[in-house]
Amino acid sequence: MNIILLGAPGAGKGTQASMLAEKYGFLHISTGDIFRANIKGGTEIGKLAKTYIDAGKLVPDSVTCEIVKDRLSKEDAAEGFMLDGFPRNVFQAEQLDSFSKIDFCLNINVPFELLMDRICGRRVCVCGESYHVTALNGRTTCLKCGKELYRRADDNPETVSARLETYLRETEPLIGYYEKQGKLLSVNGNGAPKEVFARICSAIDSRI
Ligand code: AMP
Repeated sequence: MNIILLGAPGAGKGTQASMLAEKYGFLHISTGDIFRANIKGGTEIGKLAKTYIDAGKLVPDSVTCEIVKDRLSKEDAAEGFMLDGFPRNVFQAEQLDSFSKIDFCLNINVPFELLMDRICGRRVCVCGESYHVTALNGRTTCLKCGKELYRRADDNPETVSARLETYLRETEPLIGYYEKQGKLLSVNGNGAPKEVFARICSAIDSRI
């Protein structure tokens, strides 16, 4: 099963992807995580990606598509995968169609006015867990692994505004792109992660 997780920044793609990977065993591939690992490792790709990520812009398609194509050619992806954060525009979707076959695209729908608070209040852990600061009640460590939580460098109001604009301009048209192909599954992403997860699971179960 080859799945795309679509949604605005802050829609909960990463959180839902971790839960889905655990329940269904889907291979989770996040382009954002790949870029962040490259930034941490000081690679050339990381240096290039950082300038775009810090500005809330998309990393150039040529670089991103090559990374995804290469990742999907690995043996573990032959069994299926779940893409989180790719494609992010129609060009990337067309490229993806040229080197892979997508079964469906799961769109997590969250009212736009909630996104800024969700992202700016987000605290993440190296293990992949993520929380909202209000739910943490002053706690600064991960409930799952105990490591110190931190705020992503691009989760600040200026960068978030740019990311949301980028989403509206470049990524939202993908909803129509997958709808036309009859591959769109839309889920209400408003609510507690577990509630949203239950909705996503029933949408997926109706499809597999
Ligand atoms: P994310 O973790 O998915 O929110 O991605 C963080 C940042 O990485 C984005 O704001 C983009 O700058 C960059 N990025 C992630 N995925 C892509 C993609 N498919 N195309 C271009 N840039 C991307």
